[in-house]
Formats: sequence, C-alpha cells, structure tokens
Amino acid sequence: PYQNFYEVMCANAKNAPRKTALFMDDRKLSYAKLKEAIDAFAHFLKQSNIQKGDKVAMIVGNCEAFVVALFAITKVGAVAVPLNTFLKQEEFEYILNDCDAKMLLSSYAFEKETKALRESTKIERIIWVEAPLEENEGNFERILATTLMDKEACTAKLDDTACIVYTSGTTGKPKGAMLSYRNLFSNAIGGADSFQVTCKDRFIVFLPMFHSFTLSIMVLLPMFTCSSVVIVRSVFPFANVLKQTLLKQVTIFLGVPTLYNALLKAKIPWYFMWFNKVRLFISGSAPLSEQALNDFSAKFKKAKLLEGYGLSECSPAVCVNRLHHQKPLSVGLPLPGYEIKIVDEERMEVATGEVGEIMVKGDCVMQGYLNHPDATDETISNGWLLTGDLGKKDHEGFLYIVDRKKDLIISKGINIYPREIEEVIYKYEGVDAVAVIGLKDEQTKDEEVLAFIQPKEDAKLREMELRAYLKHHLANFKLPKHIYFVEELPKNATGKVLKRVLKENIQADGL
Ligand code: ATP
Repeated sequence: PYQNFYEVMCANAKNAPRKTALFMDDRKLSYAKLKEAIDAFAHFLKQSNIQKGDKVAMIVGNCEAFVVALFAITKVGAVAVPLNTFLKQEEFEYILNDCDAKMLLSSYAFEKETKALRESTKIERIIWVEAPLEENEGNFERILATTLMDKEACTAKLDDTACIVYTSGTTGKPKGAMLSYRNLFSNAIGGADSFQVTCKDRFIVFLPMFHSFTLSIMVLLPMFTCSSVVIVRSVFPFANVLKQTLLKQVTIFLGVPTLYNALLKAKIPWYFMWFNKVRLFISGSAPLSEQALNDFSAKFKKAKLLEGYGLSECSPAVCVNRLHHQKPLSVGLPLPGYEIKIVDEERMEVATGEVGEIMVKGDCVMQGYLNHPDATDETISNGWLLTGDLGKKDHEGFLYIVDRKKDLIISKGINIYPREIEEVIYKYEGVDAVAVIGLKDEQTKDEEVLAFIQPKEDAKLREMELRAYLKHHLANFKLPKHIYFVEELPKNATGKVLKRVLKENIQADGL
C-alpha cells in the first residue's frame, strides 16, 4: 500500500507513536519523535534547495542520524547515496563526482577525510553529524533542534530511485546500483514474510548501515514491520554487541560468517546463553561453512541460524532459508515473487543439479547502474540479472552457491571451485579462516591452486600433516600447490575475505 519510505513512517507514527523505533546507548527514539526529526531535516533540505532527483551522499557511521537522514532525503524526493565509510578520500571523490552529489552528510569523526571534498566535487554543503556543540556550521543535531517541521506529504512514487548503493569495485571502478522503492519494499516484505517478523521483534545492527544487507534487512525491514532497532556503533568490542543483545532483548541478529566464526570461538558468558532472547541469527554476504553451521546448532540450541544470499544489485536479498524449511549448505529458496535460474555460457538454462551462473528475476532487480548503460545491458536482459555467481539448484528449488565466477580456478581445462577446497580445510582442527585462490603460472599459463590459512590462536599447524589430510579428502588436481599460513586474512568492512588483495600481494612480492 506504500509508495515511499515516508508513508511507512507516517503509518508507524500514527499507529504506534510511543513505541521505540531506535535504541542507541542509553537513548530511545519513539516513532513519533523519529518522524518529527525526519520532518525537521526534510524542511532544512527543502530550504537548502535540495530537489527531486538530487543526490545527497552520506558518509555516516551507525547512529540514529543515519535513519533520520535516509528518510528525510527520500521524503523530499532526493536520492540517498550511503557510502562505505572505510573508503579513502580519492575513493569518496570518485563516487561523489560519479553521482553528482549536491550535499554531503558526514560523521564528524571522518572530518579529516571529508572536509576537502568540497573543493574536488560539486558538494555545496557538508552537514556534520555528531559534531561538537561549538561547531556552528552545518551541525546536524543543531539543525534538528532549531528548524521548523516540514508538514507536506511525500510525492515520491514506487518506481522512483530511493537509494544508490555502490558496488565495492572488485572488478574495476565502483558502480552505483540504482534501487527504487519497489526494489527495496519487495525485499522488506519478502524478508519479513520469510523470517515471520512481527512488530514485537527487536533487531540489532552493528555491521555498517551503509552496506546493502544491513540497510535493507536491518534498517528498512524493521521500519516496515514497525519493529525496533538497536543501533550499535561497531562490532568492536564484541562484548558490547553481546551486552546490548541481552539488555535490549534483541530477537533478530544479522551477522556475516567471519562474525559467526568468532562467536563460536568466543567464551560466551553463561547468562548470555540463558537469558538472551534471540530467536533468529541470519548470515549472509559470504559463504557460511558447514562446520560453522553444525557448531552453531550445538552451541545455541534455542535459536536458529539461517543463511541467505544476495547482492547489492538485487536490493540485496534473493534467497533465504525459512524458519521451518532449511537445508544446510544451501542459501534457501527465492523470496516470494522472485525467480532464479542457472544458465550456461550461452545463457541457456542447465539441468537441475548442474552448476552454472545464477540469474535472478523479480522486483528486487535494480533499475540499472548509474551512468553505465552498457554495463547495465550486459548485466540485465529481459528482466533477468546476471549475478556473476556460480550455483546449482536441487529438485525442490533450493539454491547452493558454488563460488564466484571470477574466483573459479581453471587448471588444465578442469574447473576447480575454491569453496569446495575451503570447506575441507575448514574441517581441519586449528583452522580459523581460509581462502583458496588460483594464480596463473606465467610459464605454463595454467592456474595453480594456492591456500591461505589463518590458524586459530595457539594452534600449531604443520603443513605436512595438513597435506596428508587434504590428500585423503581431495582429488590430486584440487590439492593446493602452495599453502601459506598467515596471521590475518585481508577482509573488507563487512568481514568478507578480499581474494583480490591476496592475489595482488602475491603477484607483487611472492608473499
Ligand atoms: P563486488 O563489488 O565485487 O560485486 P561485493 O562483495 O561488494 O563485491 P555485494 O553486493 O556486497 O558485492 O555482495 C554480493 C556477493 O556476495 C554475491 O554476488 C556473492 O558472491 C556473495 N554472497 C552473498 N551471500 C552469499 C552466501 N550466502 N554465500 C556465498 N556467497 C555469498
């Protein structure tokens, strides 16, 4: 029934004005107060001549202002562009110029990196979030306290662009995926339905809110179901995440595999195990190993861990396991109304159980890449989006992610899937994290399998013994030519292992 985010907020403020929308530290913001803050910032945006279709960029860490700004920007018909706050100045510059952003909201904590952006981009004004009181110029909190409230309705329509989410640019420069209200609403509705979310649920968000998974599933979805969100600034210290989960009686927790691996290793206090109210742990954005899933159900008997799959270009959730219909190692079934098919190089559908590239159709498929019509045409045809991921479907339609297409190793003409090797290594005692990559041997022009292993603290891994184990479990052609033990694998802001960096490092100096 809704056309835009603001209408969702109006319904919540009307039906549940006193209900807490956002918790942070020892603060609470009710739906009525949240709507007032959104109206105040919307008024300021209109005064600042921000108009329909204008891009407003956000380099904002996790806090209430993120939600206020996101809803206010879209209320005036503008497009919110949340950026990865971990980027460096040049990367910010590239994105702000690419999307032609007119205004920037920046956390004051990033002042050093963002202040100069006024000179190198078309940003007319920077608004500082969580700035010290004495900062007079563009102080977000002060603006909220002193501006009138915008009383007008929002005219944005379902097929208008609401947000632009930039890909991380592992292949070339980052591209902005344009997501409409229809795209994002379909994800919220599908997610709420699959996880059986009610207004009684409490979500906790400690992963960066700028990431499409967090944005859609942990920020927009709970607003859609009039649930509450507990905002935590960062995953570190993890003890604080656990404390907030317990204190605020969180019921839905979204993490990534590296985090679940850490959770499984950590000594969790007994009272957390007894008194936490989490009914659902969700994992997405990278493969969850079978070992982690098994260890998890042994440790957390009350709650379920459900894996899902998605990509920013699909708003992002595509498939999820359901509470009462789950298969280990599978990322589940498509959300309601979405379709997936597995295709070969000619984009012809392959038989059930065969590996091919995953294509997605449905309301989640982005409107396109901003300023990149060619890339859009290569990615979407007849409403089907090519994901760049390899997978297979079983006879019930459950999807299994095999690997990223670009991570596939081709050795002597044979396809080797790094994830299969990683799964075997994960089962080896003392392994904390592993990444398997292929590297072209310049002489033979063939790809070699390399394994990078991060041992658990205090674990003493011996290559000879590990090799004997691998020989037992893997065909000879899949055995890593080199095994490297590393202290820490390179990871991105959401904890995803950066295989590109591993490749670059080894090419640069042979490690
Ligand atoms: P890039 O910019 O290179 O596309 P990215 O990681 O930033 O990378 P995202 O949209 O953040 O792009 O992540 C989407 C990708 O994450 C998917 O295409 C897929 O490869 C991977 N992924 C997501 N969920 C899972 C999962 N459950 N299992 C395996 N891989 C997953």
